Amino acid sequence: LTSPGPVPPFQVRPKPPGAMMFDWLTPAPADEVRKRLTRLARADGARGRILASERLARPTQQLERTLEIKGLGQLPAFRVRFEQGGNPTKGGVRFAPDASLAEAERLSLLMTLKCALAGLPFGGAKGAVRVEARQLDQDQREEIARAYAHAFADVIGPETDVPAPDIATGPFEMDVIRRTLNADKGRSRAPVTGLPPETGGLALREGATGLGGWRVYQRLCESGHCKAHPRIAVQGFGSAGSAFARAANQAGAVIVAVSDSRSMAANRGGLDIDAVTERKRETGKVGEDGDPGAIVETDCDVLVLAASGDVIDAAAARKLRAERLIELANAPVTRKGYEALDARGIESVPDILANAGGVAASYFEWRAFGEPDAPDESALKAQWKQVMDKAADAVSALASRTGQPVHAAALLFALDQLDPDTRQLAVS
Ligand code: GLU
Repeated sequence: LTSPGPVPPFQVRPKPPGAMMFDWLTPAPADEVRKRLTRLARADGARGRILASERLARPTQQLERTLEIKGLGQLPAFRVRFEQGGNPTKGGVRFAPDASLAEAERLSLLMTLKCALAGLPFGGAKGAVRVEARQLDQDQREEIARAYAHAFADVIGPETDVPAPDIATGPFEMDVIRRTLNADKGRSRAPVTGLPPETGGLALREGATGLGGWRVYQRLCESGHCKAHPRIAVQGFGSAGSAFARAANQAGAVIVAVSDSRSMAANRGGLDIDAVTERKRETGKVGEDGDPGAIVETDCDVLVLAASGDVIDAAAARKLRAERLIELANAPVTRKGYEALDARGIESVPDILANAGGVAASYFEWRAFGEPDAPDESALKAQWKQVMDKAADAVSALASRTGQPVHAAALLFALDQLDPDTRQLAVS
């Protein structure tokens, strides 16, 4: 017998149809998520979980198109979908300079797990346009959103694939997509969510990601999985980070630091979040110029990651002084980052639980759209809270029963929810 020889560092994957050279040569980021899932499922040995993790091996659709935008040239645009049980797929569209098909695949896989975990009747999706959003004026945003809608008109629709806001997109872009496709005419479900309230959006949607993250944290505290009365630092002060900070502050938590991409504000005794919000509105910054990266070294109990993906790598993880992370952004921790967190005993509430409030609010918007007898906002908010509580409680219960950390329990519960035999919808 000859020895099989050393294991190659990575295997060259067959080039997926439509993939660009760059995407195909780098190891797929979605595979990191898959590896974590299969490792957990196999360690546990439950057949349903193993099968569920295997069903995520490939997306249903990976689409790449080119948008021709006056003054900006050709912009690559993506949409990746994981269908589940005949349900529509759901997930945001981001404008980001590092967007790629491979990254959209990772994010749509996370959306699939997130919708399953929250008990929502959706598969997962994610879209992106490769563009530096900071340079864009309103007309260019409109043109890009319109071109995106045209490019993916064959998949977007209330019963097929329902986009929503993500990094650097919001109600404005969603409304452009809705108008472009005219797909809402005569429909009783929304073709996109995160719309302005005047055209069918819910007021709840805008702050739902941050509010949901805080609700999840409180719920985990009630079951003994988090520290009550934490001192919190928040990285990122966009709609998710600022809503989290406001909700936590109103509930009496001390916010010791917040940062955005250009600045940081800190106060060991606690920041006045209303004043920070006002400063951000007036000057575009939360504080004085300085190194916003220093937020990861803040002395605090909980660090909320609400900025962007891959911010906690091994080096950043070694600098952390928090004992717990809340992943309000999607995929904010790299594989090496998780290894370093594990080595240091720092736990994290994963994105698929921490930021599920956004898509849960989207679900209610999708369902209430064009529905004359839809419940009012306050009734919908009460139902939304129930969805969040149910998800957090299910993860807590699994963590308590198995002794697994919250992160692993959330992934395992999401796998259970992908199994048609064990799935429980949180909504009727
Ligand atoms: N983009 C958000 C997320 O990553 C929300 C998606 C949605 O509402 O469909 O969860």
